[in-house]
Amino acid sequence: MEPEKTICVVGSLNVDLVATASRIPARGETILASSFAIRFGGKGANQAVACRILGIQTNLLAKIGNDDYGRQAMERLADYSVNTSMVTKAELEPTGLALIVVEDETGENIITVVSGANVRFSSEDVLRHRFAILSCSICLLQLEIPLDTVRKTIEIAKRENVKVILNPAPFQLLDDKILSGIDILVPNKLELESLLDLHIPDSKCYSNDESEIGAMLHVVDRLQRKFQNLALVITLGKRGCIVCPQIESKHFEAFLIEPYISTPHAVDTTGAGDCFCGALAVGLIEYGNLLEAARFANIAAGISVTRQGTQESYPSREQVEYLLT
Ligand code: ATP
Repeated sequence: MEPEKTICVVGSLNVDLVATASRIPARGETILASSFAIRFGGKGANQAVACRILGIQTNLLAKIGNDDYGRQAMERLADYSVNTSMVTKAELEPTGLALIVVEDETGENIITVVSGANVRFSSEDVLRHRFAILSCSICLLQLEIPLDTVRKTIEIAKRENVKVILNPAPFQLLDDKILSGIDILVPNKLELESLLDLHIPDSKCYSNDESEIGAMLHVVDRLQRKFQNLALVITLGKRGCIVCPQIESKHFEAFLIEPYISTPHAVDTTGAGDCFCGALAVGLIEYGNLLEAARFANIAAGISVTRQGTQESYPSREQVEYLLT
């Protein structure tokens, strides 16, 4: 019997401490909050939860502090059955934290991020747990951890032809070594613009979808000529996503996938990008085809924006498949 396919997510883990108040305090001012909540996140943890809820065995490689926040985050991941046995602990740094104050009426916020243990997640940590990567079909990465750790992960994955998906968020400049080791890059439009150091005109500038795809392809062409094995899926928020297969791929042309839902139904888009990336990896395992995988991811992320929260808004496999057919 074929072993069960697994996804390995290598990335960040954060705990958000969210106070809601009637307004955001001024400098030097103390005000009372009306409510408080602890939320669990970090792009790595979010993407791992998305994969697991969609029914695929998932390993998470990450780093936490030796503190209660880290322990609570691990308990939460265990509730989702994410395999966290390779998550390591930094002794001198806290678990990554985001301190958030949200203004009640407007939803506006101020955020201070303490990267904490995430910046101590080293290439040695990844090397020590390389079997968690080598035993997987797909390795999923983002950029909330040091670039050296990302580089080492790609190097390990390539040894056994593990497919590498990189979500370049938050954006950092990527060198050729990283780009040549990736199979699928999943930027949003802003990240793509930063990567190529150019501005892509807004969708309103095009007469129809085809010319927008054409314009997008024109800019990614530069990347794909240099890195011929690189496929891209560009997420466009409420406009869905564009799939740009490898330059040599004859399977399908670039394709704009319309959003599954219409915008008025979106209530909270936080973490939609992470849901999309996790679901894309799951879709690739299920369908073995980037276009089908992107359709699957577009529906999963489309469902997530109709619900409040981040991890708690991610849909199950059945919910996505019900809408896919
Ligand atoms: P974030 O950083 O907030 O997680 P992102 O910028 O990485 O998001 P987006 O391009 O905003 O990612 O969204 C990812 C995917 O989520 C989109 O490709 C789409 O499938 C879905 N999505 C996002 N916003 C909406 C919306 N308003 N309506 C329908 N689908 C949406």
